[in-house]
Amino acid sequence: MSFERVAIIGLGLLGGSIGLAVQESLPGVATTGWDRDPATRARAAERGLVGTVCETGAEAVADADLVIFCVPVGAIGEVATELASAIPAGAVISDVGSSKQSVAEALAKALPGHAVIPAHPVAGTERSGPDAGFASLFHNRWCIITPPEGADEAKVAALSAFWEALGAKVELMDAQHHDLVLAVTSHLPHLIAYTIVGTASDLEGVTQSEVIKYSAGGFRDFTRIAASDPTMWRDVFLTNKDAVLEMLQRFSEDLTALQRAIRWGDGDTLFDLFTRTRAIRRSIIAEGQDDARPDFGRSDHAG
Ligand code: NAP
Repeated sequence: MSFERVAIIGLGLLGGSIGLAVQESLPGVATTGWDRDPATRARAAERGLVGTVCETGAEAVADADLVIFCVPVGAIGEVATELASAIPAGAVISDVGSSKQSVAEALAKALPGHAVIPAHPVAGTERSGPDAGFASLFHNRWCIITPPEGADEAKVAALSAFWEALGAKVELMDAQHHDLVLAVTSHLPHLIAYTIVGTASDLEGVTQSEVIKYSAGGFRDFTRIAASDPTMWRDVFLTNKDAVLEMLQRFSEDLTALQRAIRWGDGDTLFDLFTRTRAIRRSIIAEGQDDARPDFGRSDHAG
């Protein structure tokens, strides 16, 4: 099986990018979309993010064989409940939420009769809204699909093929394992970035203008991450609480060990760690998951 009519609920960065990518890579597939904000719907229509921008969510899902929820994870259950009576019985239900266990539970509760197959494309930027999306967002990025136990294999295969058509590489994973892995690779780094930028802006001895004026590469990279959407990230931490707290505990222990190494002048410990971490960066570049150019290639565009 393959999907012919895809409904996208939420036309921000992820929803808009899926709409553009489907139109580019799967031109035979019809796309409908809806967003709660009339200004977002107007902008989505102007940019052609989907084939048809609908005035209501019910209209958008009415004929769909695949419905993808692209709203913040804390809102997915509520929006799915509102649209439940309008979604065709045979439609596959998916999402792009950054945490998976709570979303899987919320969708199963809201749409008990449907095939719910949650997914998380590990692709994004710090930008949000209807102007942020672009068709190549998923190229060479992983999309983690977390089918619940007993999921229909043909439907899981169809969803995998859908994401592959948009340029993604697909991995199937248990939702709980997804949440643990993403807690360390994505959620904790965001928490650290939000903390560092918050700490710098609170420092009394350093003025705000000095923080901005002398922002070195390290701090600037944190500010990019810390500029990510507040609603989205509030919801991620509230819905992936256990895994994030577990990783935070591990991180605190490692930070304490480094604090001790610095206090006692233990350069070997620092050097060994920095050597290991450098190798991880090289592996990420070798896998094609980041840009090898210095400063992530930003200086190439600096003028
Ligand atoms: P976004 O650009 O802010 O788009 C989200 C859209 O959902 C906005 O148009 C927003 O409208 C709408 N929305 C918010 N609350 C809603 C509600 N209660 N009912 C209906 N619509 C609502 O965010 P995004 O980055 O695309 O994120 C969408 C999903 O993708 C999230 O679940 C996130 O975890 C996941 N994700 C994000 C990234 C990333 O890097 N950004 C990567 C992978 C996955 P308003 O503007 O009116 O709030």
